[in-house]
Amino acid sequence: MTYPTDLGFYINGSWRKGEGRDVHNVINPATGETLGQLPLATAADLEEALEATAMGFAEWRHVDVTERAAKLHKVAALIRERAEVISVLLTMEQGKPLAEARTETLSCAAQFDYFCEEAKRSYGRVLVRPTGQRTLVLKQPVGPVAAFSPWNFPVNLMCKKMAAALAAGCSIIAKPPEETPASTSAIMQCVIDGGIPGHVAQLVYGVPDMVSRQLIASPIIRKVSFTGSVPVGKHLLKLCADGVKRTTMELGGHAPVLIFDDCDLDKAIALSSTTKFRNAGQVCISPTRFYVQEGIYDRFVAGFAEATTKVQVGNGLDAGTVMGPLANDRRPPAIEKLVADATAKGARLLTGGLRGETGNFYQPTVLADVPMSADVMEDEPFGPVALMRPFKTLDEAIEQANRLPFGLAAYAFTENGRQANLVADALDTGMVGINSFVISVPDAPFGGVKESGFGSEGGPEGLDSYYVTKAVHQY
Ligand code: NAD
Repeated sequence: MTYPTDLGFYINGSWRKGEGRDVHNVINPATGETLGQLPLATAADLEEALEATAMGFAEWRHVDVTERAAKLHKVAALIRERAEVISVLLTMEQGKPLAEARTETLSCAAQFDYFCEEAKRSYGRVLVRPTGQRTLVLKQPVGPVAAFSPWNFPVNLMCKKMAAALAAGCSIIAKPPEETPASTSAIMQCVIDGGIPGHVAQLVYGVPDMVSRQLIASPIIRKVSFTGSVPVGKHLLKLCADGVKRTTMELGGHAPVLIFDDCDLDKAIALSSTTKFRNAGQVCISPTRFYVQEGIYDRFVAGFAEATTKVQVGNGLDAGTVMGPLANDRRPPAIEKLVADATAKGARLLTGGLRGETGNFYQPTVLADVPMSADVMEDEPFGPVALMRPFKTLDEAIEQANRLPFGLAAYAFTENGRQANLVADALDTGMVGINSFVISVPDAPFGGVKESGFGSEGGPEGLDSYYVTKAVHQY
């Protein structure tokens, strides 16, 4: 399949192409070759998008929820119909294996189906007083949304925001990452062909800081949703404070995994070693800090390292590839530095630890006995690196798990139900997986605590973040 030569962005019902605008080179992370040139929105383009989104909101909020749902179901159907093309584009520009790209693309359709049905049940409530007074609690769409999403799950994360916002009756300007425009634009074409008006859903690419400053400063934007790093999240929160904008922040994580002596060891090794290298570890909920109870530490570490040596690394389009390259050229040097620091401080490198010769490849890497002083025990590696440390007691494991400012996801493997409950209660994170790493589904909340952000995407809670509540007291 050939990569599109006419990349662009979509404002007020029409695709905008080069026309003298600055461009961003889109790179294939597996080969380093330039795939295409993406035009970047100018300040005037963004101003036009803002005016359009205000008009789009004024209309879309009054469209009956069943009519909105019918269109959003059509978007989902079109995504399924075009899934193969979208998935190949996603692998070409992001690097992940085609099977993972297919799963991600289909998850987009599931988001549209879920949120538009859930919106039909956003009823509000009525309080009836003995005096004859009634209080109505109404849910109303918050207003035009600016949504910023990153390059690790480019289509899924854009759709999480777009599907929920549109279902709730909001208009949206989405700014997905500049690294992966063909797949996100192909999804946008499904949104357009599904019948969503051109001033209701818009798509822009640009210089991220310029786009976010301009959109957030506008009084038209009432809600900002961001997925990305903690520092950028904090920066956007400060910008939002000036206009007291509603925010949802899905930021970084550094997920601990507590492996207890009584777990099903084979299952724990198999699930951990496959999940760690999904999307080359560039996942905010990726299992990273493995705390393993003393009695099984050596066996777990040896089994995990052996499984890791079998992970087939290659171009995501090649059959048999289990792990592709890292998505951009910022990641390999960042990971190289963290691994060098850890080994210099005494960590044992069991496998991996090297960059590839072409593209942005980095080997699946396992570090054992990682000292607490290693930078990687504090900084999210956001790559294919697993860290192992032994622990003795439950209390010690919980203390280690909770010691960082992150609080996104945590996992535990134990066959003891009471221990599972204690751990689930004590972990200071927004999400916990017990004997499983599957924690991202459309109908359950997804989000973190502490510096991992606040608010949820997914589930009724995710939809709720696109409504404001109004109390009407009537005598
Ligand atoms: P980064 O922190 O500069 O960017 C993270 C994301 O935010 C990117 O998609 C980027 O386009 C966007 N961004 C950056 N500045 C922005 C701004 N001013 N306004 C709006 N959007 C902005 O760095 P990076 O090199 O792209 O990624 C590095 C780190 O980001 C990773 O190590 C990881 O910790 C984090 N990250 C997290 C997620 C996640 O799913 N939570 C996704 C991607 C990256």
